[in-house]
Amino acid sequence: MSDIQSEIQADPAVPTTPTVRFADFGLSPDILRALSDQGYVHPTPIQAEAIPVVLQGRDVMGAAQTGTGKTAGFSLPIIQLLLAHANTSASPARHPVRALILTPTRELADQVAENVKAYCRHTPLRSTVVFGGVDIAPQTAALRSGIEIVIATPGRLLDHVQQKTLNLSQTQILVMDEADRMLDMGFLPDLQRIINLLPKERQNLMFSATFSGEIKKLAATFLKNPVTIEVARSNATADNVTQTMYHVNEQTKAEAVSHIIRERKLKQVIVFSNTKIGASKLARHLENEGVNASAIHGDKTQNERMAALEAFKRGEIEVLVATDVAARGLDIAELPCVINFDLPYNAEDYVHRIGRTGRAGASGDAISLYADKDERLLVDIEKMIKYKFVRAELTGFVAKPASAERERSSGRGADARNGRGDSRGVPSSDRSTQHTRSAYTSTPTSRKEKIDPWFLKPYEPTLAAEVDSASVAPAGGSIKPSKVKLAALLGGLPKN
Ligand code: AMP
Repeated sequence: MSDIQSEIQADPAVPTTPTVRFADFGLSPDILRALSDQGYVHPTPIQAEAIPVVLQGRDVMGAAQTGTGKTAGFSLPIIQLLLAHANTSASPARHPVRALILTPTRELADQVAENVKAYCRHTPLRSTVVFGGVDIAPQTAALRSGIEIVIATPGRLLDHVQQKTLNLSQTQILVMDEADRMLDMGFLPDLQRIINLLPKERQNLMFSATFSGEIKKLAATFLKNPVTIEVARSNATADNVTQTMYHVNEQTKAEAVSHIIRERKLKQVIVFSNTKIGASKLARHLENEGVNASAIHGDKTQNERMAALEAFKRGEIEVLVATDVAARGLDIAELPCVINFDLPYNAEDYVHRIGRTGRAGASGDAISLYADKDERLLVDIEKMIKYKFVRAELTGFVAKPASAERERSSGRGADARNGRGDSRGVPSSDRSTQHTRSAYTSTPTSRKEKIDPWFLKPYEPTLAAEVDSASVAPAGGSIKPSKVKLAALLGGLPKN
């Protein structure tokens, strides 16, 4: 795990509320000391709104993206509330789980845990993180010693419940962080199971970047008379992000990405791909072009993904090529640019993706590439964000004839097979051939299909933690041998 001090620092780009200070909330001196260790003086808008409400014991429905300071917004008042029970006894019985923070991904769980640990450092409260894909034994040992605040992904949490290493009967506060993503990832049954294990009388906090009908339904089932806190319009994109939409030829998209990276001299950029294979191929292409790039997706082990993330944060890797699920929850502040190599199948994912940049008040660039076949995805995004893009041309970009030809002759993709290109920059004979609706609908559009199985695992059998994670069957089915082989080819199988 990375060093806390290097992870959490006052971010000068975070818009804070200068008229309010953390000291105004009546937080304990131990918490204020931890905040001053971080260099935080003024709360961010969501913190200013959430802290007093949570301290009153109210339920909260928070519309906030990562990067707004929402983690401290819920953790600081939780720590304050739990201080009433804090003690230095060595007995595990004196440290029951009193607060549970659920997150969809391991990365987010890790990041939240680092924050909580830093804010608790001068108090006797104990916190720990549990997530799947790693050895369960150290987590079991930590839980057995008594822990007041548990940060967890749903599957591994249920493992611990089943093993009786975790008892939730005294949990008085539940946080669901990035609830929309948890639903996207199929965690609803696990969430319901977990809610049933908790005392009926408890405080519930739910945070979500987007508010679909499903999310509202979930909120209605478990939040009691919640206070709604909204720091940015839901389902809207950040105002400080410049969004550009470039029309390109499907066959030369990878080259277009390297061209943009070179031209703009980009040093820290996340490129989004809709598929794991696409991510790996693009990362390889970029490396061949002399760009330090790494793919981060579900076929990579937890350690590989953490290592890539750390190298990216240190600036050793300039480009992270990520699938949506892998990128979700990554706390990379002040990312200057994100690139959509593929337009996402779900318009909501566009909002999440571009939320990676222009975070915390900084300005950012969101560059998207689209080919003819993506027109409908583009229109869906426009409908969602209520904004009509100017369909721009990528000036100065000339695809290498050889690579375009190689793509075509390799027969990859519908465009290549049909000799179709976009209507611009290709011979006029091709221009008449437009993509039809049926060509578009052959694209996999199901949410479930595009999610990496590695991340799903709603309930991981305990043994799964000790064995090769790539060989673990995803919920509801087994990995086909070919898939495992493919993971190996992509360098994605765990090394131990
Ligand atoms: P979060 O949205 O919780 O992931 O927070 C994003 C980042 O904002 C954190 O990693 C901190 O660097 C920073 N941050 C959070 N709260 C504050 C604050 N009150 N003052 C300055 N920086 C903050």
